[in-house]
Amino acid sequence: MSLSDITTRIDAACQAAGRDPASVHLIAVSKLQPLDRVTAVLDEGHRLFGENRVQEADGKWPDLRKQYGSVDVHLIGPLQSNKARQAMQLFQAIHSVDRPKLANAIARLAQELGTCPDIFLQINTGEEPQKAGVLPTEADAFVAECRDLDLPVQGLMCIPPVDEEPSLHFALLAKIAERNGLTGLSMGMSGDFERAIALGATHVRVGSAIFGDRVTG
Ligand SMILES: *Cc1c(COP(=O)(O)O)cnc(C)c1O
Repeated sequence: MSLSDITTRIDAACQAAGRDPASVHLIAVSKLQPLDRVTAVLDEGHRLFGENRVQEADGKWPDLRKQYGSVDVHLIGPLQSNKARQAMQLFQAIHSVDRPKLANAIARLAQELGTCPDIFLQINTGEEPQKAGVLPTEADAFVAECRDLDLPVQGLMCIPPVDEEPSLHFALLAKIAERNGLTGLSMGMSGDFERAIALGATHVRVGSAIFGDRVTG
């Protein structure tokens, strides 16, 4: 697969769903990828990437931005409150806001910095004990709490359980977003982004299908 294969498949999925391809943003997930693969995708003109660790992103994107100019990078992995400041200076969006403590830390920093990345709230749709995110039953209250903090909440994010049909989780996430008046849906990865688009994904997070297998780190 390559970037152009994936964009072709996204366009086809949009067409099948009667959606405008411009309504789906492809986040190229560059975590744990060799640098030459990342620069190859930058050379093709792509300017939206995803990382799941602050440290790794900080070691990569300041230099790449010097070379390539402005690039949007979204944080899609867990964030500790004590790294929130660094994250807010590195990323244009944070998809993994998953608890009140973190929401409060980001809100305080947003006041101080006068700016805030786009915020997505992570929902643990599979109710998996080991997974981040608020439970579906707590989602409405968490959305309200984040809005009270004046966070720019764009939408919701989920990572379905590996052994379940992801469409059920995408549909649940879409339902929670709709009843809260949220339009952003960060869902769908290499194995299931077409199903996510069918159910309304606005941000698909695709790594290995674009870049190949990650270097285990
Ligand atoms: C790594 C990662 C992805 C990309 O996974 P692929 O299967 O390689 O497409 C998407 N979302 C999150 C949260 C990830 O950590």
